[in-house]
Amino acid sequence: DTLLNTFSAYGGCVDQRVQGAAICGKFGAKGVIVRSMTNSIDDFPHTGTMTYNDLPRAQYIPAAAISSKAANALSTDLKKNPNLKFFFKQSCQTLPDAPSYNVVGEITGTETPENIFVVGGHLDSWDLGEGAHDDGTGIVQSLEVAYLFKKNKIRPKNTIRIVFFMNEENGTRGAKKYAALAKTNNENHIGGIESDAGGHTPRGFSIQANTANTKLLQSWKKLLGPYGLHDLDAGGSGADIAPLQGENVTLVGYRPDSQRYFDYHHTSRDTFDKVNKRELALGSASIASLVYLMDKYLYNNTLLKP
Ligand SMILES: [Zn+2]
Repeated sequence: DTLLNTFSAYGGCVDQRVQGAAICGKFGAKGVIVRSMTNSIDDFPHTGTMTYNDLPRAQYIPAAAISSKAANALSTDLKKNPNLKFFFKQSCQTLPDAPSYNVVGEITGTETPENIFVVGGHLDSWDLGEGAHDDGTGIVQSLEVAYLFKKNKIRPKNTIRIVFFMNEENGTRGAKKYAALAKTNNENHIGGIESDAGGHTPRGFSIQANTANTKLLQSWKKLLGPYGLHDLDAGGSGADIAPLQGENVTLVGYRPDSQRYFDYHHTSRDTFDKVNKRELALGSASIASLVYLMDKYLYNNTLLKP
């Protein structure tokens, strides 16, 4: 799977970036350099979240990701000269927290408005690029679900809530706050779908639900297949909706083609010109179609308690 699905490959090696400083710091390293998490060979470093775990502050070490080309050069040079000296200088810093917000809008359900189905992506991005594919496309597609329902005069049975989550990249803070508020306000979340895998050609959905609901969604393959939506495997959904997880909550992750995503992911290259309008629109239609099917056939007017 790691050879076909770049997200699997990313998931399999991203611990080196996330945990590198915490682990190497424990063993007294001076700093940690990681190869960027990408399958392309280029000059663009890919940033991303990292942690020091419970390492004492005095043992914190600098960490950086270098481009795949630079990593190849470093590896070659190190083999030639094991005493090679590496110099790096950083100017990044963590500033104090500042207030920011999730953005929420909804279409109230006609039959069971108390049942809420979330459609979302995340509003923030790493600041070295524009975050066009991560996750501007997810934001646009979430908004387009509401637009397509309105345009086609579809009134959902359940409340469809569009959520632009804030701060996914640096600790899913918006998602955690959203889930906490949902609990405080006794809201009944029945499911959700997240688009946070880029805006490329639709391939399908990943389903995070109980066995019965997973099977029901997979039985729609005959409806979705003709539109290129063949992947309906059980798996994760999305970092922002995952905190809403529960026995009767059906969560879905939108899964577009993944081959080019890690060319741009968390780099200065993740800009608007990389988004193909038609691929993006096909994704919006795919997500809207699944939301329509789920709203109509999954919940059958029964109040499902999370
Ligand atoms: Zn993202």
